[in-house]
Amino acid sequence: MKRDISPELLRRAVAASNEGLVITDVRRPDAPLVYVNPAFERMTGYAAHEVLGRNCRFLHREDVSQPGLETVREAVRMGGGCVALLRNYRQDGTLFWNQLGLAPMYGGNGQVTHMMGTLVDVTHSVRAEQLLLERQRQLERSKRVLEGLALKDGLTGLYNRRYFSEQLAREWNRARRERFSLSLFMIDIDYFKRFNDAYGHPAGDERIRLVADALRRCFARGSDLVARYGGEEFVALAGGLDRRCGRERAELLCEAVRGLTAHAGRGATPPVTVSVGLSMVTPDDRLAPEDLIEAADRALYEAKRTGRDRVMQASPVRALATAA
Ligand code: GH3
Ligand code: MG
Ligand code: MG
Repeated sequence: MKRDISPELLRRAVAASNEGLVITDVRRPDAPLVYVNPAFERMTGYAAHEVLGRNCRFLHREDVSQPGLETVREAVRMGGGCVALLRNYRQDGTLFWNQLGLAPMYGGNGQVTHMMGTLVDVTHSVRAEQLLLERQRQLERSKRVLEGLALKDGLTGLYNRRYFSEQLAREWNRARRERFSLSLFMIDIDYFKRFNDAYGHPAGDERIRLVADALRRCFARGSDLVARYGGEEFVALAGGLDRRCGRERAELLCEAVRGLTAHAGRGATPPVTVSVGLSMVTPDDRLAPEDLIEAADRALYEAKRTGRDRVMQASPVRALATAA
């Protein structure tokens, strides 16, 4: 079958095309446009007589650092073709996404004489893709927030009790295998009900946040773990401390909390203090994490009973060895 087409039919096909068609003459300086079809005029808003004789870079205006333009420049340099996605601008300044196809046209001597470009307005699909990406990012962000909420306490940003219990079980097993000590600190704000009653719940919340910040500062090693255990009760876990260091940490915490309101002058709220119950052990088979918590709880009760604003220590009670 003959592939030839009459010049008249070809002219009508190019004029009827829905794709923008342009031809540039690469033999002339700055490769000017020598032809644009009606679809190009509709797509860009430029009339043929306004653009013929000009290089087609006016379509991207000042928006010159686009990855698609690199592709085009490379193709032109190599005298080859390419497909590139470009941000182009209509005559009225509005943006449209142009999927440009470039193809070299060869003369009789095998040299490239012209380049033909096809322009397709793909703004709709690019926008839809961008929207989809943005939705995906939003979903990722929401997922991270939800994961954070599941682990953290909303008021203080500290870990919550559930997360602490999970971590305690893990650390317990690791400490038993690797034979290092665990120190558990139970911390409770003193006379907090009284404070709440006198100054209101929001002021109480602020105090809880202040104490949480002091705790974070006192237990700042990478392996330390601090959590809000209940209303005005906190818990901290530290690995590898010896008896003296554990005690010192607890004393330092009491001092740091005292310091939070020590500067308060006349008419200010009463100073905030905490009581601390401390238990330390190197885990073994006759003990469970709950025993460490029970001992710290017992020590905290003692600290309260003997006057508050102090540290008390207690040892976990080992279950009796079962008779063989
Ligand atoms: P003690 O020295 O024996 O610990 O006395 P206390 O008053 O601190 O202890 P108690 O357990 O009787 O009171 C704790 C109070 O903490 C009761 C509750 O109103 C308050 N509380 C618990 N959670 C929150 C909270 O999230 N915000 C505020 N503002 N108060 C809270
Ligand atoms: Mg209390
Ligand atoms: Mg309490």
